[in-house]
Amino acid sequence: MYRLRLFAIRHAGSFEWIYQRLESVMVALDPVFSRIGYNRVERPVALLESGIKGVLFDCKMCGQCVLSSTGMSCPMNCPKELRNGPCGGVRPGGYCEVKPWMKCVWSLAWDGSTRMKGGHKIREVLPPVDRSLKGSSSWLRVSREKAAKLREAHEASRTAVAQAFPEARAIEPAAAPLADEPASAVNREVLKK
Ligand code: SF4
Repeated sequence: MYRLRLFAIRHAGSFEWIYQRLESVMVALDPVFSRIGYNRVERPVALLESGIKGVLFDCKMCGQCVLSSTGMSCPMNCPKELRNGPCGGVRPGGYCEVKPWMKCVWSLAWDGSTRMKGGHKIREVLPPVDRSLKGSSSWLRVSREKAAKLREAHEASRTAVAQAFPEARAIEPAAAPLADEPASAVNREVLKK
């Protein structure tokens, strides 16, 4: 699979695009996943993720995917599992000192990042691996977190507008019109209360 790994680096820009589309789809599916139960979909999605990423990136299912920050080069393939750049043992030509037949994953990461729009993310410091997440689906976790943030932001903006229009809230708590309500639509009885 090493060759496919190199292929992924050469096409890091395309994989970045695919990943962004995939994330949008997963976020859009949040209501479906919530309805079925995230616990129930975890296993099938993790199996699918493991199969696809195992072939393409030699994924080890660490549960905290950072491919979009590492030029599509999986840092878990580093024999030392370094997540923030190479060790001091990179051989001439960018080869690994532990596995001399293999290019250093960080040398590949730098190469892949130059082909990605978000390649600058390689400069950000990544958190240490949380071993408790091993085997779980990163796709599901990230999309679930993103969907929750979007819901929170939506709720916050709705609440902010609603608080600015208490009368509108009295009439219809689920809506906060920006324009004055037409007289015919105002329920005087509700307002009196
Ligand atoms: S960073 Fe983790 S989830 Fe992503 S490809 Fe590597 S092992 Fe798999």
